[in-house]
Amino acid sequence: MLGKLRSSQKGQARRSIKVGIPKFLNIWGTAPFWVGFFDSLGMKVVFSSDTSEEQYRTYGKGRITMDSCFPVKALAGHIGELLHKDIDILFVPMIYSLPSFLRGHVMDTLCCTRVMMAPENIKAGFLKEKDEFKERGIKYVSPFVPFGEPELLPKYLFEGLKPAVEDLTYEEVVEAVKEGFASLEEFDKSMREKSLEILRWCVKNNRPALLVLARPYHMDPGIGHEIDAEFQLYGYPVLWYNYLPIDKWLLDWLGISLDISDVWTSSYSSNTNEIIWGAKFASRFPWITGVIRLSSYECGMDQPTFTPAQRIVESSGTLFFKFGELDETKPAGSVKIRVETIVYYLEKYSQDIIKRKLSRLGEVPKELTL
Ligand code: SF4
Repeated sequence: MLGKLRSSQKGQARRSIKVGIPKFLNIWGTAPFWVGFFDSLGMKVVFSSDTSEEQYRTYGKGRITMDSCFPVKALAGHIGELLHKDIDILFVPMIYSLPSFLRGHVMDTLCCTRVMMAPENIKAGFLKEKDEFKERGIKYVSPFVPFGEPELLPKYLFEGLKPAVEDLTYEEVVEAVKEGFASLEEFDKSMREKSLEILRWCVKNNRPALLVLARPYHMDPGIGHEIDAEFQLYGYPVLWYNYLPIDKWLLDWLGISLDISDVWTSSYSSNTNEIIWGAKFASRFPWITGVIRLSSYECGMDQPTFTPAQRIVESSGTLFFKFGELDETKPAGSVKIRVETIVYYLEKYSQDIIKRKLSRLGEVPKELTL
């Protein structure tokens, strides 16, 4: 009780500390954790904007010290933008592993190595001529973050933040990590409920839906170029693989579990594992009649997943469409033409696909028809 009181007093004193977090890579998918974590410590989070060509051109270009995929290079724009905001700490976590719903069913939940090393690589561009963080009085904090081993998080986060927040205690960080996970869990739960609601609507109205298989950061309009939104304009509900419902009654009906070892044996990479699992879900769920696969140019991690994901999806007759090689600039014209073509196929074949997939399953569970 006394501890809580002390930390809340400190929390009040810290309300003036603003923590800038670039909205890049796997911050997509973990942002609610960081909001809950810093809120518990009494600090205010300021996120950078979504990625955009303008942000990258204004703040990022010329800072890149290595060749990489655009999702990594875009970090330079986010950091540059935050340096122009009123912040005290720039928090750029090196996320090593992720908190995945597949944990316990897969070998590991690691991030791509480029994701983990992006903060160090991009930081170099802001130190080339002078220390731009120091010059602006901003403390740069970049702790190692193994979400896959939650028991280690307080140690790494405490060690990373302590030099920037002198009165910080280890006990406070332990509490803040719990708050962070609670906030993330709550967010994920609400997103899964939303997805279930959409699927119920599809069942009730016998309407097809689409599933996106991508990396979480393809939700960023400047990385995924809002291709999912183009389909929504044609009236197709679009779901994302990482927020699909995982209720037991639903998975039992579909005849799948959270195990992917039948189709993916080296299940180390978190996003990859979830993409493969999403492909299995899409291949079974009758009203998901098409899958949209998004991938960035120069993504070595995605290459080995293309064929298995496509085969899993197409084995059930579900349509599969790939937008690979996404880069800095949105190819607006060609995206529009491709979307129009895909919509033609969806309209032509969706009802047959629904019927065929339904014929392989038992009676639709009552929970889906609520
Ligand atoms: S998974 Fe692909 S797109 Fe993402 S950081 Fe790694 S190489 Fe880049």
